[in-house]
Amino acid sequence: MLDTLRRLTQALNNTTDLDTGLAVVVHGVKTQLAVDACSVYLVDASDTGFVLVATDGFDPRAVGSVRFARGEGLVGLVVERQRPISLSNAQDHPRFRHLPQFGEQVHHAFLGVPITHLRQPLGALIVRQLNDRVFGRDEQAFLLAIAGELAGLAHAGSSRGAQGFSADRKRAPPALLRGIKGAPGIGIGTCVLPSAAAAFDTVPDLRAEGAQAEALAFQRAVAAVRAELILSAQRLAAGVPTETHAMFGVYVELLDDDELFADTLERIRAGESGAAALRETITLHARVFEEMADPYLRARAEDLRGLGRRVLLHLQSGMTEPRIYPERCVLVGEEVSIARIADVPVAQLAGIVCSRGSPYSHAAILARTLRIPAVMGLGKVPLEPLAGRRLLVDGTHGRVYVDPPPDVVADFERVSAQQHASADKLAALRELPAQTPDGARVALQANVGLSSDLATALDSGAEGIGLFRTEFSFMVRDSFPSEDEQVRVYREILARFAPRPVTMRTLDVGGDKGLPYFPLQEENAFLGWRGIRLTLDNPGIFLTQLRALLRANAGMGNLKVLLPMISSAREVDAVRELLVRAAAECESAGHPTQAVELGAMIEVPSAIFQMAALARRVDFFSIGTNDLTQYLLAVDRSNARVARHFDSLHPAVLRAIDSTARGALDAWRPLSVCGEMAGDPQAAVLLMGLGVETLSMAAASIPAVKLALRTFSRQRAQAMAVLALAAEDPLEVRQMLNAAFDDAGLKSPAAESEVR
Ligand code: PEP
Ligand code: MG
Repeated sequence: MLDTLRRLTQALNNTTDLDTGLAVVVHGVKTQLAVDACSVYLVDASDTGFVLVATDGFDPRAVGSVRFARGEGLVGLVVERQRPISLSNAQDHPRFRHLPQFGEQVHHAFLGVPITHLRQPLGALIVRQLNDRVFGRDEQAFLLAIAGELAGLAHAGSSRGAQGFSADRKRAPPALLRGIKGAPGIGIGTCVLPSAAAAFDTVPDLRAEGAQAEALAFQRAVAAVRAELILSAQRLAAGVPTETHAMFGVYVELLDDDELFADTLERIRAGESGAAALRETITLHARVFEEMADPYLRARAEDLRGLGRRVLLHLQSGMTEPRIYPERCVLVGEEVSIARIADVPVAQLAGIVCSRGSPYSHAAILARTLRIPAVMGLGKVPLEPLAGRRLLVDGTHGRVYVDPPPDVVADFERVSAQQHASADKLAALRELPAQTPDGARVALQANVGLSSDLATALDSGAEGIGLFRTEFSFMVRDSFPSEDEQVRVYREILARFAPRPVTMRTLDVGGDKGLPYFPLQEENAFLGWRGIRLTLDNPGIFLTQLRALLRANAGMGNLKVLLPMISSAREVDAVRELLVRAAAECESAGHPTQAVELGAMIEVPSAIFQMAALARRVDFFSIGTNDLTQYLLAVDRSNARVARHFDSLHPAVLRAIDSTARGALDAWRPLSVCGEMAGDPQAAVLLMGLGVETLSMAAASIPAVKLALRTFSRQRAQAMAVLALAAEDPLEVRQMLNAAFDDAGLKSPAAESEVR
């Protein structure tokens, strides 16, 4: 049974087409459980009942015709109860319905399980057997597991209801797609999908005009890949897992294989295009490896194809023009990388839509700082049919309208105008301090990821930059930025904000932040080689960054350095040693340096229990509530399925923050919060009540947070914090805050902008 489960799960994961998925499931389940029929019912277009959408064992003409109203039949019962229903004599049940018009015989045994996506009932998966039979627990568990897998696909199809089951569904995408709110706001633009990665099966059989030019382009592409590989291998020499390093070695060796490339050149000279010639030689050589008996040598076939794709990418990108984007465009993809976002001029970017991810994925965080509406976690929606279509992205409610009709557009334009008007009112607060009615001051700073956020941050009246995510500028490049390049980026930011403080966090890659030129494939990436662990293991990369930071600060003096993912005091000791070495290297190269404040992020729970030891080593603390919430609640911050469990107002998170604040106070160390929580006006009031002195957030959130802080006295905030700490669940905390905001007449723009 496990094998079948694995096979069916894999088949479902490999398809985005509901019809195929359903056909695979009904056939696979019927065979595995040896039942007479297996059927799937999904919610219908009007959302009033369920329609049969696939069956094996029942008259196929019944598909699309057999319907059950909500509350009708055993199918309705399964959906209503939201749990498996197993009957050995179904015909005696008062909800039993017989369908003789489709030649249905009276089935005795019945087992049905609900299909549910993010707690939303979508339908039921049913098996039936003519003779008496009692289904066991294993069979129930099997069916439940399949229903769970089916839910993602069905969710995508059900955006239009089961009416989408008609044959046109493949061509026409659903009119409305539901996801999770990623970044608030509304935008309309043309859907742009990622350009296809270099793939040999898309290379046409072209003959080339100038063999010499083709050969030259091919040799250049090979040279570029060789240089790339050697450089990466050198950079990674220290501390990299041996298999990664070995992979580079294998690639370089393969590249040096004369025969391989002599063959390609020969084909080019015979008139084939470089790409077509490369495809042929790679395919032929890979086949030779594939046929070898030794598994190690067989595996080299994939290396060879990988290498071929790299060369192809260089060949093709050398030939293509830079990408031109529509005047207003919506970037759509399974994931939308930070590099892709940065590639589009901000003024042309109308929205971002991802089928994976959650509001705490870094794409959503960047979207918020750029004030671009974003919708995350659409599920398994086929994306290709969206290409070139007009999309209305409603990031506030997590919805995407495909080819929206004029009345929908008009409605959204009206709401958008209202939002702008209230934003204008808030902007009037720009020059006023974030000061409570009883005189307490909270410093409001901006989070910045790319230099393109700088203007917004400056405009917002931010009192400094509380978090500059240096990794974003690493992520938008094709290779590690050099020390001089880094100095330029850091210096521009320090200069534009001087004399206000700028907190730059050292490279925090890993988790959902990969570098295209630094391969990281980990089972549990958020628990893996991430943040400070990765930089300490690669002192070459780390020292370059530290030197660049110190050099950028020369003559400025407003730099603070923040360390991500600190989980033990020893890590700070190791950083201190490297910092001393970086300063000495700068000095001996003729670059004067000055001392900088060093801070630790509190985002790994273990750090909370070591505040005293850490305080002896750092000058300040900053709580990263995104990761702290993820690790405390064991909720992957970029997994749409568990997004509803991610809540920084969870009393456990609040208690962790309270304990950190006490630790910082005892050690006389300043404390800020720089996670997304700081930008939620209601949470910001609580954080003030808990004793946090500085809040750093997306610049767009500063005005609403300032208004909230200017409304509630510190005393009131402290009282609310006491209640929140005693609460038993996040809902209780949210209700208490909603009531307080309502009483204070704050119809919070939070309701629009907050991420919940
Ligand atoms: C955090 O974890 O809260 C944080 C600010 O850092 P990041 O979101 O970049 O992980
Ligand atoms: Mg973090």
